[in-house]
Amino acid sequence: MIVYEFKVKGKDKQYQAIDEAIRTSQFIQNKCLRYWMDNKESKVDKYALNKYCAVLAAEFPFADELNSMARQSAAERSWSAIARFYNNCKKKVKGKKGFPKFKKNCRSVEYKSSGWKLSDTRKAITFSDNKGIGTLKLKGTYDLNYYDIKQIKRVRLVRRADGYYAQFAIDIDVRVESQPTNQIVGLDLGLKYFIADNKGNVEQSPQFHRKSQKQLNRANRKKSKKFSKERNKAKQRQSNNYHKARIRYARKHLKVSRQRKEYCKKLAYSVIQSNDLVAYEDLNVKGLVKNRHLAKSISDAGWYTFRSWLEYFGHKYGKVTVAVPPHNTSQNCSNCGEKVKKSLSIRTHVCPHCGYTEDRDINAAINILRLGLSTMGHTGTYATGDLPSWAVGASLLSNGESLNVESPPL
Ligand SMILES: [Zn+2]
Repeated sequence: MIVYEFKVKGKDKQYQAIDEAIRTSQFIQNKCLRYWMDNKESKVDKYALNKYCAVLAAEFPFADELNSMARQSAAERSWSAIARFYNNCKKKVKGKKGFPKFKKNCRSVEYKSSGWKLSDTRKAITFSDNKGIGTLKLKGTYDLNYYDIKQIKRVRLVRRADGYYAQFAIDIDVRVESQPTNQIVGLDLGLKYFIADNKGNVEQSPQFHRKSQKQLNRANRKKSKKFSKERNKAKQRQSNNYHKARIRYARKHLKVSRQRKEYCKKLAYSVIQSNDLVAYEDLNVKGLVKNRHLAKSISDAGWYTFRSWLEYFGHKYGKVTVAVPPHNTSQNCSNCGEKVKKSLSIRTHVCPHCGYTEDRDINAAINILRLGLSTMGHTGTYATGDLPSWAVGASLLSNGESLNVESPPL
């Protein structure tokens, strides 16, 4: 499965229609969640939610206006949040189990194989349900003419700070034959470095977010200055100047997240190209981000994005990616195996047992590679039967920044 993204061009009225479709999709997701919460004894499953969509369409005219498969798609999104929660409970994940939440700021709506039609040139798409989106021009460098329409499994409309986008999820096998490199690598994801490998190579942290922080802060202050508490109290709309400032701020954020994505993608591509096996830590990024002191640097670092691209390219080029449990990879001595306790501030591993001295992160990378080799055959999230993180439906859940939009020049 591959996702291509285009910017779409239409009239303001059409953009409003897209917003309305997104709102309806969100409404259905939330209604499905409520239905599941209210009927827990009766074991509401995926199919029950699908059926419930028809009930909603009969009850609410605006839900009826949305294409029926787009309604189902909304129910599926709701279900995937519920399924994730069930899964966490079953696996007895420590701490919060991620009870599904009601959506407030959905930014996308997803159609499946009906409710839309591509033009003959495939440079425009027409939505035919009763939301009134109509025909949108597709702006981008990809050519949809290469694919059979049947291969397009989903079409998703996404709202971002700088406009509207259409994503096409195309069912093709992206795998490409590649020559073995006879190289294997273990990666440590660090704070001092972005990654360090077992051979001693390090890739410095990009720290986009910090660099742009000044600009972001300024934009944020401007936004706050224009926010009127009185209007908020009176439930009036904020001024146009406030909304302008808000959009400027959001665009800055978008720019930073795109930079990070490009960076992660290029790095993951080069790691996959130069190795046959890549081992890395199976970090619970969510848990780590909760630690306030680390939070900034970690979400800065974009490991999640990096890992997703690593797994994607690994699949594409037939390379093995192994996620290993991160227990003690930085503590244990990679030379003799003894545990050598050290706090985060100690950057060098000095083993009192065998005298081995190495950079902390490189020592960890060696341990990771060894663990990776010993768990071979269990290749990360992909071999466990779960969907890989870049699969459609898995990555197309969240806010609309999908990870696997391929761009031609790498
Ligand atoms: Zn040692």
